[in-house]
Formats: sequence, structure tokens, C-alpha cells
Amino acid sequence: MSHTVKTAIVTGGSRGIGRAICLKLAAQEMNLVINYAGNQQAAEATAEECRSLGTQVILVKADVSKPEGCEKLFSEAQETFGAVDVLVNNAGITRDGLILRMSEESFDEVIDTNLKGAFFCMKLAARIMMKQRYGRIVNMSSVAGVRGNPGQINYSASKAGLIGMTKSLAKELAGRNVTVNAVAPGLIETDMTDVLSDAVKDQLVHGIPMARAGKPEDVAAAVAFFASEEAGYITGQVLCVDGGMAV
Ligand code: NDP
Repeated sequence: MSHTVKTAIVTGGSRGIGRAICLKLAAQEMNLVINYAGNQQAAEATAEECRSLGTQVILVKADVSKPEGCEKLFSEAQETFGAVDVLVNNAGITRDGLILRMSEESFDEVIDTNLKGAFFCMKLAARIMMKQRYGRIVNMSSVAGVRGNPGQINYSASKAGLIGMTKSLAKELAGRNVTVNAVAPGLIETDMTDVLSDAVKDQLVHGIPMARAGKPEDVAAAVAFFASEEAGYITGQVLCVDGGMAV
């Protein structure tokens, strides 16, 4: 490898867990390519915070559910930094509802963003990382993908699918020094879970041995570990960050 400062792409890096991941990787002196869908204010605030840690940052507004969006993301990363060492597929959405009320559109939207978005990005990353003979890919799954969750068959399918893709790609890329792992958070305090009613949150907390929700920083620490050089002999793994929820 000719480059020493690593470059990381974080999808959905503007807010919540993605923001915490960006800050953690910035603190580890990685160049950052922060992707977001539309919330420019949040994206700029996160970028500024990362820059204040002394790292180089570009922001790329792109919809990862579309192949063109992912191509734009990778071409801007390559143009600016000339390498992609770390890919964190973190962008994700929910469109919850019980099966009898779930539309095909809600199903497709979630699969397209959470699962196909990761596929498009992994394909672009694989080409670069195989050539570099170095890479770290981290996919954001969920306890919903490990255990299932009522009202979330679309979301659980996408998150279980990410685990399958993680294990398969880990096997495909292992010989090229590229690792592929997944992190499966439980209940984490972000905008995504802020919309849940207190009753639903209480019920979820009841199922957590640690009896509390987690913070974005808890998840970022696990992602940063998989993204590090030191984790080079670990691939195809799923790490639950959930206060014991999935045990
Ligand atoms: P948030 O809703 O807080 O943030 C979602 C992020 O994804 C934002 O940065 C958003 O960009 C971005 N995003 C959404 N759609 C797209 C798209 N089509 N293209 C590009 N970016 C997009 O979510 P969280 O931080 O809570 O979740 C992050 C990840 O962690 C998700 O994959 C989620 O499924 C997973 N997760 C979360 C848990 C939780 O309890 N919070 C539990 C388990 C897993 P913008 O700001 O521009 O809208």
C-alpha cells in the first residue's frame, strides 16, 4: 500500500449512528467521505466537527438506493483521495407496519435503501479494494435482522439480508486482504427511534438485560474496531451492540 492515511466512506453519515462513526474515524485520523440523502444542515455540521479534529472531509449528497447515487459517491471519493480503504454501509430507513397493512412500495423502499444500496456500494468498493489488496467493509445490520421484529418484516428482511451478504462477500474477498463484517445494534437513541411511542420504547427496554437504550457512540466503537488495521484477521462476523438484547 502506498498511502498511509486511510480514507473511509460512511453512508448516511450526517446524523445519528453515522455521525458518531464519522467522528470516531476522524479521531483516528482517517480522511472522510460523508454521504447523506438530503439533510444538508446536519451533514455540514458533522463535516465541520470532523474537520475540527484535523481530518480532511468531503460531503457527497447521493441516494444510495440508486446505482447512479453510489457511482457518484465513489467517483468523488476517488477523485479527492485516490483510495477507498474503509466502507461503512450505514444508511438506512424504516417504513414500519404489520404485514396486512404493508404496501409493496414500503417493502421495496426499505429493501432498495438498506440492502440494494449496500450491494451497489460493496460492488464499487470491491473493485478498488481488491486492487489495493486492502479493505475494510462494515455493514450496519440490526437485532431485527438477527431475531426478527413484529411490524418490521421489510426492515428485518433487509437487515438479515445484509448478514447474508456480509458472510458471502467475506468469503469472496478474504484472499485479497479485504474483510467484511456486520454490526447489529439493538435500541439506540437517534432520530430513527425517537418517533417510537413511549409504550413501544418501554417494551423494548424491558427486553434488554442492561435495561436501557444504547448511544450512537456505543455502535461507533464497534464499527471503528472492524475498520481498523488491527482487525485484519476477523471477517464474516456479526457483532451485536445491544446491551444483551439478542442473547
Ligand atoms: P437516522 O434516521 O438517525 O439516520 C439515517 C441516516 O441515513 C441519515 O444520515 C440519512 O441522511 C441517511 N439516509 C437515509 N436514506 C438514505 C439514502 N437513500 N441515501 C443516502 N443516505 C440515506 O438513523 P440511525 O442513525 O438510527 O441508523 C443508522 C443505521 O443503523 C441504519 O442502517 C439503521 O437501520 C441502523 N440501526 C439503527 C438502530 C437504532 O436503534 N437507531 C438499531 C439497529 C440498526 P439524511 O440526514 O440526509 O436524511
